[in-house]
Amino acid sequence: MREDVETVRERVRIDEVIGAHVTLRPAGVGTLKGLCPFHDEKTPSFNVRPQVGRYHCFGCGEGGDVITFVQRMDGLGFTEAVDHLAGRVGVTVRYEDGSAPRPGEEPGRRRRLLDAHKVAEEYFRDQLASPEARIGRAFLAERGFDRAAAEQFGVGFAPPGWDALLHHLRGRAFTEAELTASGLVSQGRKGLIDRFRGRLVWPIREVTGDTVGFGARRLHDDDTGPKYLNTPETPLYRKSHVLYGIDLAKREIARTRQAVVVEGYTDVMAMHLSGVGTAVATCGTAFGPDHARIVRRLLGGAGGAGGVQLASGDSVGGEVVFTFDGDAAGRAAALKAFGEDQTFAAQTFVAIEPGGLDPCELRQQRGSDAVRALVSGRTPMFEFVVRSTLAAHNLDTAEGRVAALRAAAPVVAGIRDTALRPEYTRQLAGWLGLPEARVRDAVGSGRGRAPSAPARRPDRSDPVVRVEHNALAAVLQHPGLVPGSFDTLGPDAFTVPGYRAVHDAVRVAGGVAAGRTTDTARWVGTVSDGAAESVRPTITELSVVALPANSDEALAALVRATVDGLVDQGLARTIADLHGQLQRTEASDPRSREILAELTALETRRRTLREQD
Ligand code: ZN
Repeated sequence: MREDVETVRERVRIDEVIGAHVTLRPAGVGTLKGLCPFHDEKTPSFNVRPQVGRYHCFGCGEGGDVITFVQRMDGLGFTEAVDHLAGRVGVTVRYEDGSAPRPGEEPGRRRRLLDAHKVAEEYFRDQLASPEARIGRAFLAERGFDRAAAEQFGVGFAPPGWDALLHHLRGRAFTEAELTASGLVSQGRKGLIDRFRGRLVWPIREVTGDTVGFGARRLHDDDTGPKYLNTPETPLYRKSHVLYGIDLAKREIARTRQAVVVEGYTDVMAMHLSGVGTAVATCGTAFGPDHARIVRRLLGGAGGAGGVQLASGDSVGGEVVFTFDGDAAGRAAALKAFGEDQTFAAQTFVAIEPGGLDPCELRQQRGSDAVRALVSGRTPMFEFVVRSTLAAHNLDTAEGRVAALRAAAPVVAGIRDTALRPEYTRQLAGWLGLPEARVRDAVGSGRGRAPSAPARRPDRSDPVVRVEHNALAAVLQHPGLVPGSFDTLGPDAFTVPGYRAVHDAVRVAGGVAAGRTTDTARWVGTVSDGAAESVRPTITELSVVALPANSDEALAALVRATVDGLVDQGLARTIADLHGQLQRTEASDPRSREILAELTALETRRRTLREQD
């Protein structure tokens, strides 16, 4: 698989993939620049170096290779991103020991199942215009969705009868085994039958836009099935992993760093049509940890793909708004979501319509403005949970307030965000009308950990730092220009800890000599793969940063001077150390002769190096 991943990295053009999302313009030798898709900015600090196969944003620090970009942009896992890119360039990724790409899936099988879904989706869409689908069109019209809306969301109609889709798919040469595995048909008493019959259908897609299943709404009174019927668990479709509307919402979620979770297909449509383009819905299941992961990847920040998730549950950036019916079930769902994913909780909000209207009804009865107002009037989940807890007590009596405090204190104590906890302690005191000190005692102290300080960036106005920075950038980007003396540098030649770690990774990868014999992108990949996770962002940054030279000659001269300077710095440091040692050693000590001999050799070498220029 490793080789296949390399092939994908080589064949896919990073400037094309990124270019589909970001307008890139040339800036200096071999660098393209644009506005970062991962944070809001007015002047471009997002750099792409096609030759190195990497990108890096000097504004927010986001960076990596083409696979990382797709992971971040589309909220995909590594394997999914590789599969997606492989499909683009016609590479088949073989998995070790012939194992399946994903549980229960054979290589090639996924493509077939996706094709079956594509055919089915087109079929359903065509059927929506048929006379039999009048009831379906009426259902949409009653809810304020016109034809354009139906088209935008790919809504279709599964005809009544038993085997219309089945015939259609067989006519397209799909085998019984494929049809069964797709979940589009089910086993009837006399053989296979269509799973969805006489229903409106919504295509459920992955972030990449591939349709992996359908959700179907009952229309006929004599339909004895459930109101909503979804694709069963298949190799493509796992209900705990799919979010309806994610393909349409991903861009807006990444841009605005907000995701809105609603309850149904028509709610997603109503939200988007009202201008809330960040709405998604779970499909026949509650919002769970896997859904949270998908959303968090798109929201980015510290929780983004390849990023570092802080154990203390500090900000992952962005916010998630749950809209629930005002009823008890909705409230229970919110409480559950709160309890299950505390790292998420600081950015979690609830938006509840007091009249109990869902977003679809709200749009119809009170218009798009009311839908947007519902979202903007959101309440922090903490506040919602604490207030719900307090509501169960009579706060007019002293006993009631004490009982309420006892019930609510654990909720506040459970807040892992150390910055938020005191704030909510204060608020709880206000809601209860009790002294803050009393509430603080009840909540207790010392839970959770203080957030770790972010690593400081090396100061590049320091000439020593600048030389180390430029030398490593040259080694990664232009190994062919770097003098061989670089590989004579010892492990402590770099003083900035982050750069020392990159130097270690270069040495592990075989030194700059190894970089000269392979193409640049592969070289950077090798160095990065051999480095610790925490070192990789620095490697990416160094491999993308533009060196201050505007011609090939100037670049060659700069690289040579930089590396010479670094070797010289290293020699000077060693010489100074040896002088110190010599002064502390008695003249009669036999070691003093050795130190002296070493000093002489080093000073000769230093002189020779200087004379070469
Ligand atoms: Zn950025």
